[in-house]
Amino acid sequence: MGGRVIAAYPTPGTFLSEIYGGTTGRHHFDPFSDWSDSIKDDRGRVRLHKARCAFFQGSFDFGDLKKSYRMWVDLAEFGKLNVIKDGVVIETIISKLPKRGNDIYRWKLKKRLGFLESLGDSNFFNPKCRNLHGAKTRMLFITLTWDPKTCDLETAWSGHKTEKIVGGDPYNPTRNSQSKCLGKHYFAHVKGCPCVSCRWNRWITAMRKRYGRIKVLRNFEAFGESAVDGKVHADGYPHVHAVLLFEDHSFAVSYRDQSKHFRILRADKDDISNLWQFHVDIEACYSAQGAMGYIKKYLLKTYGKKQVKNVHRIDKDNSELTVALLWLFRKQSFAVSGGWSSDLITYGVTQTDISDFCDLVFEWAGVFTAEELNIDSNTWSLVIPGG
Ligand SMILES: [Zn+2]
Ligand SMILES: [Zn+2]
Repeated sequence: MGGRVIAAYPTPGTFLSEIYGGTTGRHHFDPFSDWSDSIKDDRGRVRLHKARCAFFQGSFDFGDLKKSYRMWVDLAEFGKLNVIKDGVVIETIISKLPKRGNDIYRWKLKKRLGFLESLGDSNFFNPKCRNLHGAKTRMLFITLTWDPKTCDLETAWSGHKTEKIVGGDPYNPTRNSQSKCLGKHYFAHVKGCPCVSCRWNRWITAMRKRYGRIKVLRNFEAFGESAVDGKVHADGYPHVHAVLLFEDHSFAVSYRDQSKHFRILRADKDDISNLWQFHVDIEACYSAQGAMGYIKKYLLKTYGKKQVKNVHRIDKDNSELTVALLWLFRKQSFAVSGGWSSDLITYGVTQTDISDFCDLVFEWAGVFTAEELNIDSNTWSLVIPGG
């Protein structure tokens, strides 16, 4: 698969037979014959840290990774909260937890992207007009690609981190040392870090320096798998898709290419491309709603909504690998910059009179599977009186 060296998976069973020389006296004795057991906890749930371990040791290929992700996301898990009054559990609240790629996650995602519809439409130019003379746009769809020869897969997604201390040098604290976390250690990406998030941050900062205010909706994606042909492929490496709305600048639309995409002037394209180290593709958008609608469909598809079809630029395999890698590297796939419509992005928060809760104690009882709670796995939330 794309040049990755896949070692045979060493099951604990192999080790047992190495130790006992196959003399345990039991035929086919192999308590871990199913490789997936090695990434599950003692309650049979796939755990990310175990999958990360298996992947980084090199015993996993992309196929194994996708399978692990599937097993993880397909297992519904529920948070359980006991509501206690005067030392007695008066009710138990059970709520399905969002996992990237499950139904409740998509529901939240849709809610978060709901503001796109309220933006109203801006038409920058008429796409049906044959003569583009004078056509301008303030919205670009940009793809920033990657060269896999520059670093390994983990570096491309996770980068290089260094340990830091809140408040800086404890013997020479900075002025802003009121923080409660003062002196705590944390990990931060190094200066000039080559990962996709840091590269993106540097690029968009440079873009804003050059063009002024820009509103952004950006998305990370993995390149799909290619056939083995001895060449280096970008399989699983990240790339970026982003819709940019320029508030202080507009671009002349120069032509429509064979694939029917509108393009900006060569000189403008070069200016933008020069700020990114690898290949850059730029399309001129003629309407805001069109571009936004595309991004929304694209994200829902990436997060496993099967009904979304014909999304240009991705196929099924690609979206599955993308979400599996985002899971593996703990990456948020998409980000919305401020300023689109900040009050609409915030979730609707229900106001509740706090005095109602005064004599109640909430106790987090843990995370359970539907089987453990003896409930239907399609349940989203449930209140059980009396606990
Ligand atoms: Zn980084
Ligand atoms: Zn892509």
